[in-house]
Amino acid sequence: MRIANLSGRLTLVVDGLAVDVERASNGRFSADPQAVYERWDEFLHWGATTGLPAGTAFEPAALGSPAPAPRQTLAIGLNYRDHASESGFATPEGLPPVFTKFVTSISGPVTEVKLPAGGNTDWEVELVAVVGRRAEGVDKADAWSHVAGLAVGQDISERVSQLAGPAPQFSLGKSRPGFTPIGPWLVTPDEFDDPDDLELRCTVNGEEVQKGRTRDLIFSVPSLIAELSAVLPLLPGDVLFTGTPAGVGLGRVPQRFLAAGDELVSRVEGIGELRQTFTA
Ligand code: ZN
Repeated sequence: MRIANLSGRLTLVVDGLAVDVERASNGRFSADPQAVYERWDEFLHWGATTGLPAGTAFEPAALGSPAPAPRQTLAIGLNYRDHASESGFATPEGLPPVFTKFVTSISGPVTEVKLPAGGNTDWEVELVAVVGRRAEGVDKADAWSHVAGLAVGQDISERVSQLAGPAPQFSLGKSRPGFTPIGPWLVTPDEFDDPDDLELRCTVNGEEVQKGRTRDLIFSVPSLIAELSAVLPLLPGDVLFTGTPAGVGLGRVPQRFLAAGDELVSRVEGIGELRQTFTA
């Protein structure tokens, strides 16, 4: 299944067309896209057993994040060896750095983003997983069953504030308004031949700057769910940014950052794309 947030309403995307869930379920499920994760098993069963009405065409710019208001967003740094090395860090031996992207920074897949004055704003294409079943002390072997689905994410990062001060300000530097686009929809894990091996790509003005595969994650999605859920419970609807491969602007020679007028396109195989344009 493909689950979307269309103009703030929970929507199924079927053959590229939108089916409104509240109407198709006669009110059994509310229109609130974030509320569905509390009833994820019931929703999956309904989606698999109900004859849906014909869908309607829609504009990608009307989509919001499929998880617009998670109680927790956990984001992972340095989770690909080539990115750790371009960032000047050793490959983490234990769990990599974990930070948050505050909820007010979350947006849909097609947006305009204001660049902070005096900043160096950078791109990080990432695979995003959304939690479908509460996870606490979950075994790696059972971890995928706690994932509602996968989406494309951009961990947009302002490097001056991220790296200033005696300890890095990862969470603030990555939480400006619009810095957390997620979408274009959530794809359930059963839709992938191998959800542990997906290609990620990112272009700036059409030039490819990042290309990687999630099989190269140091901590895979199941490993992250196991490691993180050993520390704290992961709640239905929580968002997990899994880390970015090499090719960010900070790691390039010379360094390169986003400028007004730039268009950033981020893609993950089998899911779709995000499209951000930047303004001063
Ligand atoms: Zn990141």
